[in-house]
Amino acid sequence: MKKLEQIYEGKAKKVFSTDDPRLLIVEYKDDATAFNGLKKGTISGKGAINNQMSNRMMQLLEEQGIPTHFVEELSERETVVKRVSIVPLEVIIRNISAGSFAKRYGVEEGIVFDEPTIEFSYKNDELGDPLINDRHAIAMKLATREEIDRITELAFEVNSFMRGFFSGIGVDLVDFKLEFGRLPDGSIILADEVSPDTCRFWDSVTHEKLDKDRFRRDLGGVEDAYREIMRRVSGKAGNR
Ligand code: UDP
Repeated sequence: MKKLEQIYEGKAKKVFSTDDPRLLIVEYKDDATAFNGLKKGTISGKGAINNQMSNRMMQLLEEQGIPTHFVEELSERETVVKRVSIVPLEVIIRNISAGSFAKRYGVEEGIVFDEPTIEFSYKNDELGDPLINDRHAIAMKLATREEIDRITELAFEVNSFMRGFFSGIGVDLVDFKLEFGRLPDGSIILADEVSPDTCRFWDSVTHEKLDKDRFRRDLGGVEDAYREIMRRVSGKAGNR
């Protein structure tokens, strides 16, 4: 499988077409941004870690019956994925208060919820990815009722599996963002990435942050945190 032409460059990834119109190649970069692009930097080795961690997670999720865009890891930083039309919603699941939830509602970080929450943001950089509810998303024709119900079901299944998986490697899964896409037959699959860029991981014992918050909040040890979470994931998930 070869890259044909670059069709998109985002903050953390480049996307290329291939000779198969159903497939794309994603290349992960070391570039990092936060606060809607206001903060920019590089996290050395991040591209390779996010590529490999996301691929391991998608393979495990497939084994749980969750359809994903993962096809084949090509190299450290490159993966073949199914071409989808992205549903322009960021789907955020939370198990523990942190980040914008804590800020929005004026609560401390670290409150363990009785039930996980779900929220949607409208993927639109110019507007700063505003929060949106299901009925607004349908009104905006971003997705149908059936698609939103399926996305909600899949997102909670992803959470149940990942929470247990990470708990087994001494990590609390605080919250994470998912994106979903439509295949040509209209079915919904998990797309984008599952990585320390898109999840909050706290060590279960020390509560040390093992994710992009180290970059967002200038906590130092960013590269080490990415390496540590990858080390634990590979130890448990193995090389598939
Ligand atoms: N998140 C993400 N991309 C975004 C916004 C959030 O991957 O554009 C992830 C983030 O890493 C965290 C979760 O979604 O794991 C919840 O983020 P939150 O809404 O608290 O926003 P933040 O505090 O990161 O701005």
